[in-house]
Amino acid sequence: MEHLKMLIDKLKKEQALTKEEWVELIEGRNAELAEYLFALAREERHHYYDHDVYVRGLIEFTNYCKNDCLYCGIRKSNSNAKRYRLSEEDILSCCGTGYELGFRTFVLQGGEDGFYTDEKLVHIISRIKELYPDCALTLSIGEKSRESYQAYYDAGADRYLLRHETANAAHYAKLHPASLSAANRQQCLWDLKDIGYQVGTGFMVGSPYQTAEHLAEDLLFIKKLNPHMIGIGPFIPHHDTPFADEKAGTLELTLFMLGLLRLMLPKVLLPATTALGTIHPKGRELGIQAGANVVMPNLSPVSVRKDYSLYDNKICTGDEAAECRFCLERRMKSIGYNIVTSRGDSLNI
Ligand code: SAM
Repeated sequence: MEHLKMLIDKLKKEQALTKEEWVELIEGRNAELAEYLFALAREERHHYYDHDVYVRGLIEFTNYCKNDCLYCGIRKSNSNAKRYRLSEEDILSCCGTGYELGFRTFVLQGGEDGFYTDEKLVHIISRIKELYPDCALTLSIGEKSRESYQAYYDAGADRYLLRHETANAAHYAKLHPASLSAANRQQCLWDLKDIGYQVGTGFMVGSPYQTAEHLAEDLLFIKKLNPHMIGIGPFIPHHDTPFADEKAGTLELTLFMLGLLRLMLPKVLLPATTALGTIHPKGRELGIQAGANVVMPNLSPVSVRKDYSLYDNKICTGDEAAECRFCLERRMKSIGYNIVTSRGDSLNI
């Protein structure tokens, strides 16, 4: 135990560990070590971000997807998914509602949907930036060519969220169809960074076949990429996917990984995700107390909410945007944190 605490002290001091050390920490973790880690993670978080919690308004604008990721409820071959697309006007109206509620970052997320050509996307991005020049716009629309990423950036997109999912190529191949590769996904992230986006990556915790070695490789990859943001959440099975009967990732391991990430990249933006709130009623509060500093309430119209179903039992599918916003504000207040109205740019630059 003392040895593991010393590893955490080393992590805090040097912001890096070897693969063997990461594995040792992850495999050797227990409740006492986790409390030790979270106290240090909170110290770092308070040092850079005080008790502020940044909010991002998530607009899930399409659930059509050309990909067939084995874990995902909106995978192409899920014929039970009820598909929808939001029009440009729908998207702008979500932004309008969000702006009134104090959001200064909008996240456009969706499946990889060819209906939204680069031309259409550029138009949507330009309109949002024209109407809300004081807001940051994040895209999360999957793997595209470098030229497409450049076009969105030139149109005004500021940030891009693309989880690497798992850094280990063999593990990646067990979660995805043969048409997708870890190498291409990682290349996209390097391209995005190179273009000038503020970049977010991340992974699922407890995805099928995941080992402590894989998680250690995720940490090493993230350290190398040095992103502005890291989105992690537990894997949760979806009943209409090949992983329907797999076990979900745990709250406990997800919180531990959040704490490690905060010490490895103290200035990074770290959301307490909806998936974390789904596996435990206080998941997002616990995420903040483990070192997270961002929440991402939903701005999508209630009429389509339940259809953006990546995993089973997703929370907040019946709530209006305002309800989500104020519910999160209350939840954050209850643990001594404040939601702030600002773009909330990353200090990890
Ligand atoms: N298509 C875009 C992309 O590929 O990045 C964005 C949408 S994708 C559905 C967003 C994220 O949802 C993925 O990066 C994945 O980590 C997460 N996700 C998908 N299925 C999940 C599941 N069953 N449990 C937890 N997270 C899941």
